[in-house]
Amino acid sequence: MKYIGAHVSASGGVENAIKNAKEIGATAFALFTKNQRQWIAPELTPSQITLFRDLMAKEGFSAGQILPHDSYLINLGHPDSDGLEKSRDSFFEEMRRCELLGLDRLNFHPGSHLKRIDEEGSLQRIAESINMALDRSKGVTAVLENTAGQGSNLGYKFEHLAYIIDRVEDKSRVGVCLDTCHTFAAGYDLRTKEALDATFAEFDRIIGFGYLRGMHLNDAMRPLGSRIDRHSPLGDGEIGWECFRYIASDPRFDNIPLILETPDEARWAEEIAKLKEFAAVK
Ligand SMILES: [Zn+2]
Ligand SMILES: [Zn+2]
Repeated sequence: MKYIGAHVSASGGVENAIKNAKEIGATAFALFTKNQRQWIAPELTPSQITLFRDLMAKEGFSAGQILPHDSYLINLGHPDSDGLEKSRDSFFEEMRRCELLGLDRLNFHPGSHLKRIDEEGSLQRIAESINMALDRSKGVTAVLENTAGQGSNLGYKFEHLAYIIDRVEDKSRVGVCLDTCHTFAAGYDLRTKEALDATFAEFDRIIGFGYLRGMHLNDAMRPLGSRIDRHSPLGDGEIGWECFRYIASDPRFDNIPLILETPDEARWAEEIAKLKEFAAVK
């Protein structure tokens, strides 16, 4: 089964994300379970939790169709102990919110060395941060997203993600989300069938499809290897429709949330419909 949707707004309450997903014909969605630009959030109340869980069941969404995203402030590879501690606390809080809402995975950007420590030192901190969060929580998988490699962000090479996964103790609760825009910006070609075959063979060799817990489907505004993270609507960017047709019709991408983070929300329903069409053609 292909689960296709977008990162929808949860403004006014987490349960609104389910309504917003339903409205655009989505069978998957992503959301922030708290304001993504603030450290502190009010606790989820028992009634909010019940409302979310009931609506999830009513609208037919299982946890495997939902990919919550953490706050942009969190940096699990932070070079300073204060910043690292704050990030670790906040990440654990986000894991707990997912647990309370009956969700089973949390998508996050690995972290940044901020040019103050080397890449390896920061990658080790990220792995350690994940181990700490998994120790204190249960049932939620930490899902590392690959990045475009902008600034000092880590995770732009498949090897970075493999290095972290290697050092995570509970391999059953660590996974990966590939963002097509980030993959392309990081230098992995996705424009033709041959390029897609080669890129995903490399992904499978270095990380493994067994770790894939979600995808972000975005076209890229900038050329291959730009290291700049700018999303385009599907088909409008440098990647083009072939990539999205390929993913929608390939069974290696079954049963995980496939999430649009494309800039023009007004086009989401149409983008989802087109992906569903590709998914139906075998
Ligand atoms: Zn993304
Ligand atoms: Zn991005």
